[in-house]
Amino acid sequence: MLAIKGLEVRYGAITAVRGVDLEIRKGEIVALLGANGAGKSTIARSIAGLLPFQGEISFEGEKLTPGAAEKNLRRGIALVPEGRGILARMTVYENLLMGIYTRRDKSAAMADVEKMLERFPILGKRRDGLASLLSGGEQQMLAIGRALLSKPKLLLLDEPSLGLAPLMTASLFQMIAQFRDEGLTVLLVEQKARQTLKIVDRAYLLETGRVVTSGSAEALINDPTLSEAFLGGG
Ligand code: ATP
Repeated sequence: MLAIKGLEVRYGAITAVRGVDLEIRKGEIVALLGANGAGKSTIARSIAGLLPFQGEISFEGEKLTPGAAEKNLRRGIALVPEGRGILARMTVYENLLMGIYTRRDKSAAMADVEKMLERFPILGKRRDGLASLLSGGEQQMLAIGRALLSKPKLLLLDEPSLGLAPLMTASLFQMIAQFRDEGLTVLLVEQKARQTLKIVDRAYLLETGRVVTSGSAEALINDPTLSEAFLGGG
């Protein structure tokens, strides 16, 4: 579904991503792991069309134009950004409505908003409340619900567990694992390696902009060369 070849991304003089190759097949949950600053967000943002890049990113066999965020969204790539990107001064309902702006089938889309409020009852209860009043975990659900409303084929989740309590993180990961049953393909950017490897099919480990290792979740979790420091991070 997604194929990245020789991806390079620079911020001025800083090269954040250096020659990354990566593949995601339809129906897979793939993780991008690595420490702070390894380049994970930069890759997710490049796929979403938010950054200029060199190299090649193909989605369903077609090359993506760097920076074509709205086009990519219409093609079926949705990003839940780090920090969630919730519109704090809008209500929960209004935030969800933002998710359907690329949908042509507006009446079906409006019905999907209602279904989303049922799927996440906590959002349903707070429907007309300000998004800023939600807890971190609830805001993450709102951000994911909003992304799902664009009916993506590929969902990019950038550090969804950031700042969440352990219990909330566990239930969030459980929810992500269930996306597989809905036929969704997911790229999950995370620092919590051990927890992430429990729910994904495959993972890539990044260090200073390069892929240092990749493989099935099972192989990585049992890899004796991967340090406790890396896997111990959750
Ligand atoms: P994090 O968990 O902190 O998001 P990450 O692995 O996602 O880490 P990136 O955010 O992709 O890493 O950052 C990769 C490198 O690019 C870092 O060295 C970072 O300082 C740099 N960088 C990221 N965004 C910018 C920017 N807007 N301007 C300049 N440098 C940036």
